[in-house]
Amino acid sequence: MTEVQLQEFKLDPDSELRFEVESKNEKVVLEVKSGYAELFGTELVKGKPYEFHTGAKVAVFTWHGCTVELRGRTEVSYVAKETPMVVYLNVHAALEQQRVAAEQEGTRGPVTMVVGPGDVGKSTLTRLLLNYAVRMGRRPIFVDLDVGQGHISIPGTIGATLVERPASIEEGFSQQAPLVYHFGHKAPGENLELYNTIVTRLAEVVTERCENNKKASTSGVIINTCGWIKGAGYKVLTHAAQAFEVDVILVLDNERLFIELKRDMPKFVKVVYLPKSGGVVERSSTQRAEARDARIREYFYGKRTPYYPHSFDVKFSDLKIYKVGAPSLPDSCLPLGMRAQEALTRVVAALPSLSLAHRVLAVSFAAAPDDDVLHTNLAGFVCVTAVDMERQILTILSPQPRPLPNTVLLLSELQYMDNH
Ligand code: ATP
Repeated sequence: MTEVQLQEFKLDPDSELRFEVESKNEKVVLEVKSGYAELFGTELVKGKPYEFHTGAKVAVFTWHGCTVELRGRTEVSYVAKETPMVVYLNVHAALEQQRVAAEQEGTRGPVTMVVGPGDVGKSTLTRLLLNYAVRMGRRPIFVDLDVGQGHISIPGTIGATLVERPASIEEGFSQQAPLVYHFGHKAPGENLELYNTIVTRLAEVVTERCENNKKASTSGVIINTCGWIKGAGYKVLTHAAQAFEVDVILVLDNERLFIELKRDMPKFVKVVYLPKSGGVVERSSTQRAEARDARIREYFYGKRTPYYPHSFDVKFSDLKIYKVGAPSLPDSCLPLGMRAQEALTRVVAALPSLSLAHRVLAVSFAAAPDDDVLHTNLAGFVCVTAVDMERQILTILSPQPRPLPNTVLLLSELQYMDNH
């Protein structure tokens, strides 16, 4: 049942307040009245109001006890005393020991990958461990391989970013200059060949960056992954583990995956089983789609800090749109010496058509299609808001004013209806 009111909660040490905001256009304001509390590893400032909007699923945890006030309509709100936070803190402490050793020995800090099925709190644990690391003065690298949600950039991409301060309560980690690669689909299974190629590329660049940044190198890397863990999904995970040369794999809530990884990973990789939090909320496919949409809207319009994107027309003749992956043909129909898999990573020209309406296009740093597009990171995104076949014009929503940069635009399967 929906509750409307001002609610006050007294939390004992080691407990958390969980709440969800579900109703449309709803806003809930959270304030810590006394004591100390944190939200997925970021400390909350006493007396400061924090706003949460539709779709938010939140846990306010306290190590020492606190009083918290909620103003607004929450769908659910309750205090839980059973949480896996002590176990997660121990993981952080173990990683911290490895960072200290790396510092002393001049080696690389721990590269940790978080895996598990959907809705077990992988992204939340990643955020928590990054926050705890940065609060200890570390500068870890956050890698997100989850193309379904896109925590660093928008869905349909993978990326990495250096974490220099704890995630903002309302806006997450700072998005300054992330390294982002184009995938263009919501799930790795849509093009495994391409997914593995860009994961390998991202791993190479992250390793290079670590070699040039000692602080980041000793702080290590934390990698968030997709919830696809069976069959080809498992292979995708082991490929990522190899590409990033991970030292630690944290398996959330899936014994079979834990046993398989223990069996298949080299001995030096520590595979650790962790319980999921009872607070993690399962999301329906509609909620996931809404979250994806919200992520793209945020990219163009901002979240708390508003952005003002530009809208303008571009002639078909001024555009260079490509898509990655040619239609798959049987080997017998391919040019001599070419494998069917190679077609999946081919960059092919996409002719403007009505199907471009509402599609997101990634703006590559590559200037031409033969510029090694797959291995080149992205400058940003635009969205096609209208297609006029008669006048041969596209209307574009773009964070930058016209003209569009004279670079390759990569077609994404993702759509966004701009009704802002
Ligand atoms: P996916 O596989 O879809 O990426 P995931 O395993 O990464 O999911 P999260 O995104 O971390 O899962 O968590 C799912 C949802 O549960 C999120 O909205 C998150 O805010 C919420 N959540 C996580 N932990 C808690 C908690 N302890 N109490 C309440 N809500 C929580």
